[in-house]
Amino acid sequence: MNERKMKARMKHEKHYCPECHCDILAGKSRQVSVDSCEMWFECSRCGYDVGEEHHVETIWGWQDEYRIFAIQCWIEGLEERMAELERKVK
Ligand SMILES: [Zn+2]
Repeated sequence: MNERKMKARMKHEKHYCPECHCDILAGKSRQVSVDSCEMWFECSRCGYDVGEEHHVETIWGWQDEYRIFAIQCWIEGLEERMAELERKVK
């Protein structure tokens, strides 16, 4: 796995890591096949990952121009997780 020193700080508490409430995400990327890669943000402290379905597909590993999409994917993943938890409570 290609470890990047890309960090993102979340402003809103609801976007912090659901496991350890860390507000700093670490950007990661990896090659998934010969000609495609994915990149995503995960918790910089515990490594919590919202799931592969919320990773951004890229051609060349980490691409800064997709950083905003990776952050959006983190947020979407969290929202999905929250919705799932709510369903379980009901
Ligand atoms: Zn965490």
